[in-house]
Amino acid sequence: MHFISPGGTPRYPTREEVRHDEAELAEAILHGVVGRPEQAFGNYFVGRRASCALGAAYDGMYLLPREAGGVRPVHLERLFDCLEYTLRSCPEGCKKRLTLASMILHLNDDHHWTRESIAQWVAPPPETKPEDKRPVAS
Ligand SMILES: [Zn+2]
Repeated sequence: MHFISPGGTPRYPTREEVRHDEAELAEAILHGVVGRPEQAFGNYFVGRRASCALGAAYDGMYLLPREAGGVRPVHLERLFDCLEYTLRSCPEGCKKRLTLASMILHLNDDHHWTRESIAQWVAPPPETKPEDKRPVAS
């Protein structure tokens, strides 16, 4: 974990931070898709033009900081943490429960989801998650 509390001890990320990282990850996938317009199955990359969803995420992760004008390795590590430490259940209902990275590969290779669909599943727009809506403080 790369989250450090003010006292200097490692801590778990807050829900907001996880949400933020998932949104960045989804953005990374979409960035990767632009660079490699074809989808690959069973391989991260095929030739120069094809990538699977996780290949696109890795591609995009390295593109994002560069576009933002500076490399931010800690930030990149957080995105990798998000992939390695977040457990997700398969949205297709096949009862698999995998790390986010493995689930991205599973959706890509086994269910043949498009990379765009996978990006949207990684970080759904807030309006599709009504259960997360909290009442506005009065
Ligand atoms: Zn599945």
